[in-house]
Amino acid sequence: MVLKGMMTRPSGSHRDQLVMAAISLTNLLAPGFSNGVPYAPSEDPAETVAAANAVCEHFYRKQVAFTVAEVDRLLALARRLHELLLDLADDDLPTAVPKINALLADFPARLHLSSEPPWALHYQDHSASAVEGWQVGCGAALASWVSSGATQYISRCEAVRCDRVFFDDTRSGTRRFCSSRCQNRDKVRAYRLRQAIKDAR
Ligand SMILES: [Zn+2]
Repeated sequence: MVLKGMMTRPSGSHRDQLVMAAISLTNLLAPGFSNGVPYAPSEDPAETVAAANAVCEHFYRKQVAFTVAEVDRLLALARRLHELLLDLADDDLPTAVPKINALLADFPARLHLSSEPPWALHYQDHSASAVEGWQVGCGAALASWVSSGATQYISRCEAVRCDRVFFDDTRSGTRRFCSSRCQNRDKVRAYRLRQAIKDAR
């Protein structure tokens, strides 16, 4: 196992913001479990698209907005990113890498530097649809994270019935839960388990 401190720490670059966006889109739109209960995204396409646009705007201001017409493709992308991020959280690179390459193979990249500072390498331009742009951008950013060892910072929640993913920015790399709610649920569960064992004696 390689120590996290020895790797390139994510720096808040455009590339790193794309990975954060992939994590946030996943947690918002991928079905599964969250905080102890089954999780599903909104069934209202307009609501889904508005929430996804709000999330992405947080990470990249000049984005092309998702439209209601592409909501099914947006949800499919979120499911693919979720599967992939879980593989990366499990450090299962042989499974994750073909999935990243599949994301990159669907659409052409249009690599270019921003035309003014802050200089950032962009993977797609504004001629692509939002789903296409984010798929290429997130795929390329995750590929770059794999090649620099930064995927060690991607974790999955360890609480029962939660499969949300998060970026572990703690210095020690020991964050275990997606939220304080899951952390508290786990504390209660561990306490009850200890009590049950005590009572059984
Ligand atoms: Zn959780």
